[in-house]
Amino acid sequence: FLPHLVASMEEVEETYIMIKPDGVQRGLVGEIISRFEKKGFKLTGLKLFQCPKELAEEHYKDLKSKSFFPKLIDYITSGPVVCMAWEGIGVVASARKLIGATNPLNAEPGTIRGDLAVQTGRNVVHGSDSPENGKREIALWFKEGELSSWTPVQEPWLTE
Ligand code: UDP
Ligand code: MG
Repeated sequence: FLPHLVASMEEVEETYIMIKPDGVQRGLVGEIISRFEKKGFKLTGLKLFQCPKELAEEHYKDLKSKSFFPKLIDYITSGPVVCMAWEGIGVVASARKLIGATNPLNAEPGTIRGDLAVQTGRNVVHGSDSPENGKREIALWFKEGELSSWTPVQEPWLTE
């Protein structure tokens, strides 16, 4: 067992997390941000934003052929969203676990969707599904200068 090899497999990644309009309208912004903060990830970008239709379509372009696509675009553009970039070891998959299954009724208790939502069409939060999409989506939703690189004081208490 070689701990240093295991550690080197734990890549620092970035992910795009977005509180959807239902999460904002329902007053869940603080609750959702807290879950990622408490876990120990680092916030590097944050804004409230009214998403234009074109951006929603680009973000969800892989789902263009789906029957629910027009409703999804209406939903995402129906009010302000909270755009966030988060960084950390294994943050992409870990954030997906914290978020829970796409259908909130299948999402485990303890997850954001499992605790706070009931329907796929109102599942309160988005999280990138791969490190590549994390980078793609952060570049799509944030302009240069909107992201901060910084060192949290708690870092040595979170990572060896
Ligand atoms: N969605 C929907 N109906 C479906 C599947 C997905 O309205 O049958 C919406 C839902 O908001 C979901 C988003 O489309 O979060 C993106 O779908 P995906 O399969 O990528 O789920 P996610 O990665 O968000 O869990
Ligand atoms: Mg997805």
